[in-house]
Order: sequence, then C-alpha cells, then structure tokens
Amino acid sequence: MISEPTTLYCENHPHVETTLRCNRCEKPICAKCAVLTPTGYRCTDCVRSQQKSFDTAVWFDYILAIGIAAVLAFIGSLLTTRIGFFTIFLAPFAGIVIAEAVRFAVRRRRSKRLFQLSAVATALGGLLPVLTGLAAGFLVIFPYIWPIVYTFLVTSTMYYRLAGIRI
Ligand SMILES: [Zn+2]
Ligand SMILES: [Zn+2]
Repeated sequence: MISEPTTLYCENHPHVETTLRCNRCEKPICAKCAVLTPTGYRCTDCVRSQQKSFDTAVWFDYILAIGIAAVLAFIGSLLTTRIGFFTIFLAPFAGIVIAEAVRFAVRRRRSKRLFQLSAVATALGGLLPVLTGLAAGFLVIFPYIWPIVYTFLVTSTMYYRLAGIRI
C-alpha cells in the first residue's frame, strides 16, 4: 500500500481515509465509526466499554423494578378516583415515591434499560384500571380522566427522578 505517513485509514474500514482519531485509544476512525461524546470523538469500542461501567443492573433487578413500579403505580391509579382533581398535585409525588422504591430495591444498581422498563411498568400499572374498566364495559361510569392524567404525570416524574440523578 502506497501512502504518505500523514494519511490515516479507518481501523474498521481500511480503504477509507480519515483525519479523525479516537481521543481515548488514538485509533484512526472514519466519520461512520466515530461517536460524538461529551468529551469528543470516540471509537465504538471505547464507547461500548464505557457504557458497560454504567450498566450495573443484574437480571433480577429488572423483575424487582418492573414489579414494584407496576404495583405501586396501579395502587396510585386506583386512588385517583377518590382524590379527583388533587391527582394533579399528588401524582408527581407518587412518581418520586415509586422511583425511590425502585432504586432502593435494586440497591442503586443502574442501566438505561432498567430505567426505561421501570417507566413502561409504571405506565402500564397506571393505565391498568382504565384498561380493565374498558374491558368490563364501564366506559361511562368510571371517571377515566384522573387515572390517565395520573399515569402521564407519574410516569414522567418517575423516569426523570430515576434516570436523571447521577450516582
Ligand atoms: Zn477508542
Ligand atoms: Zn470506519
């Protein structure tokens, strides 16, 4: 191969010339392989190995998190029919309680997927009374507006609280 010493070729694509280097391992990478991180361009290998250190959740954390989030969200959703309008004020508080309960149960282990699945479980738990009500044909009798408002608020606060805080 004839090449000037200054010409770099991507490590993953030997025919692609590039001027970029991974700022962690110094490996030449092309634009396709480079990942822009807050600290500059990195190769996909470095990004992956970095993500692993943030990913500490173990398999039963998922079961714990999903179970706790769904059950607590479901109980809260049932209560909204009693508290009505006050749901708007109490739902974010419920979201914080659920996030803290999940975090306590998984002993502060973390992963992005764990947070996402917890949010999905919260949403499903919150909507369960609505879904069962619809299935049973209580379309007119059951006041759906509060469980739906509640689900929206509780899911967003829960996710923000759980995923937003750096440990
Ligand atoms: Zn690298
Ligand atoms: Zn490449």
